[in-house]
Amino acid sequence: MSKTYVPNRKADEVVIFAGPCSVESAEQFDTVAEGLSKMGLSWIRGGAFKPRTSPYSFQGLGLEGVKIMEDAGKRYGLKTITEVVDTTHVVEVLEHVDGIQIGTRNMANFELLKVIGKATEGSHQPVLFKRGMAATIDEWLSAVEYITQFGNPNVMLCERGIRTFENATRFTLDIAAVPVVHQRSMYPICVDVSHPAGQTALVGDLAKAAIAAGADALMIEVHPDPKTAKSDASQQLTIPQFEELLDELRQVAAAVGKKVV
Ligand code: PEP
Ligand code: MN
Repeated sequence: MSKTYVPNRKADEVVIFAGPCSVESAEQFDTVAEGLSKMGLSWIRGGAFKPRTSPYSFQGLGLEGVKIMEDAGKRYGLKTITEVVDTTHVVEVLEHVDGIQIGTRNMANFELLKVIGKATEGSHQPVLFKRGMAATIDEWLSAVEYITQFGNPNVMLCERGIRTFENATRFTLDIAAVPVVHQRSMYPICVDVSHPAGQTALVGDLAKAAIAAGADALMIEVHPDPKTAKSDASQQLTIPQFEELLDELRQVAAAVGKKVV
C-alpha cells in the first residue's frame, strides 16, 4: 500500500549539488570543496563507488573516497552526497556522508531501494533518486515508493537524461519531467545537467533551462582540471567556469523568485 509523505521541498530555493564526477584524491576533492564553500554553496557531490559502463574504467576509490568527502565536508562546512551501488555498503556509507544518491543504472534495483529506505527510516537522511535512462516518469514515481514506504520523506527525484534516437547529446534531457513531477508528485526534483550534456559547452544552457522550468535543485560536475579527470572528462566544468555560470544561475533563479543555495 502506498502512503503519502510531505517531503522537504522549499519553494524558494534551488539547491546546487556540484562537485567532481569521481573523488580522485584528497587534494583534488579539497580544491573543489574550497571553491564551492567560497561561493557560498551548501553541498558537494562526488562519486566513490562508480557504476562504470566498462569494468576496465576507473571504478572509484570506494570507502576511502567516502572518507575523503567526509573530511573535506567537515573542514569546508559543506554537506556531502555520494552514490551507493551495493546493498552491503549502504549502512557504512551513510555513517560518513549527509545524503546518498541512487544512480540511473539502479533505479529499478528494488532490493537496493528497500535497503536504502530502511537504512534512512529513522535518520531521514536525504536520498537523491535518479530516473532510469530508459524509464518512464510513471515507472520512476512508482519505484521511489520502494524507498519512501519505510517513512523517510526526504527524497528528491533527479532527471538526468533519457535514451532516445537523438545522439547530438549524450542523453536527451527531458526538461518536461520537471513540471510533470511537480504535477504528479510531492517530491522535489533535481536536474543533473552534466550527464545529458556530455560536453562542457552545453552545461550552462541546460542549467538555466532547468531553473526556469522550476527545478528545485541542480547537479553539476566540477573538477579542478577536467582534461585529466578519471571519469566524464568531457563534461566537467573548471572551478572558474562554474563560478561564472553560478552568477548567471543566481540571476535566473531570482527571475523565478528563488535563491541559489
Ligand atoms: C553520477 O552522478 O555520478 C552518475 C554516475 O550519474 P548517472 O547515474 O546519472 O549516470
Ligand atoms: Mn559523471
